[in-house]
Amino acid sequence: MAKPRYSFNPQSLTFTEEQRSRKDKAWLVVRYVLAFVIISAISYLVFPFVIDTPEVRKLKRENQKLVENFDHINRRVDNLRLVLEDLQHRDDNIYRTIFEAEPVPTTVRNVGMGGVDRYEQLEQMENGQLIIETSQKLDALAQKAYIQSRSFDEIIALAQRKEELVRCVPAIMPISDRNLTRMASSFGMRIHPFYKVLKMHTGMDFTAPTGTEIYATGDGEVCRVEQQQRGYGHNVMIDHGFGYKSLYAHMSKINVRPGQKVKRGQVIGLVGNTGTSVAPHLHYEVRINDQPVDPVNYYYNDLTPEQYDRMIELASMPTQSFD
Ligand SMILES: [Zn+2]
Repeated sequence: MAKPRYSFNPQSLTFTEEQRSRKDKAWLVVRYVLAFVIISAISYLVFPFVIDTPEVRKLKRENQKLVENFDHINRRVDNLRLVLEDLQHRDDNIYRTIFEAEPVPTTVRNVGMGGVDRYEQLEQMENGQLIIETSQKLDALAQKAYIQSRSFDEIIALAQRKEELVRCVPAIMPISDRNLTRMASSFGMRIHPFYKVLKMHTGMDFTAPTGTEIYATGDGEVCRVEQQQRGYGHNVMIDHGFGYKSLYAHMSKINVRPGQKVKRGQVIGLVGNTGTSVAPHLHYEVRINDQPVDPVNYYYNDLTPEQYDRMIELASMPTQSFD
């Protein structure tokens, strides 16, 4: 209800109540209603900016927690990346070196995920960048872990073959020569016993009486048995796999046949003087991918470091080969 309004009457010196018209009263009501509507509207619009509702406060708290958790996850991802990098380093520099394998190329290790924009939906979100960065890191980590695991599979396969390789590669002397008194001529340019000129000697000669036992120097399969009048004379070649072959020449007796599997140390025949040979001796060759190499580097199962040094010294002497 509107309060009554009074006016001063200077003639009677009294206050008299003013009588309002209906129009005034209606206008008064309209003003009140308008004021109410305007204040309500302003409150409705401004209130949320000044004071949070309980629901907004709850959401803000949750959001803050999520951001903190994401920071925590990000740090853990960074730690995992360091662990993985250490594994890669060890893989390339230790395991792959041991097994003589090429390091995994960096381009393969850092290969991208490619394809469609996987993070498009996240870009719309507030804090979306945080989630995108973490997702990208995790994707890269997963990819690297996968490549690392493939690399280890390869290393395991190499390790399994390594045992076989160790059994097969020529690694002992082809005849018993504990005192190193039998080595007569080594690998390199030597004077040929018949032609008396310098000629490449593609193996090592061991002097020994006819009938001395000759050993296979590694596991393998006999790939050649020949009985020639000249050259290598009666000779045997063993294929050890992995590109390695060994050749035993000028034999007096051959105990093996082509295709036969032999073990390291097995007697494959006896020393003789067949073919182009000036005296009973064994001419021994090691070949890698059919290229003769110096056998002096393939006695590591037999020789102590001191014996190896002595052998290198003997091998460096200018001698005439027995061919
Ligand atoms: Zn020789």
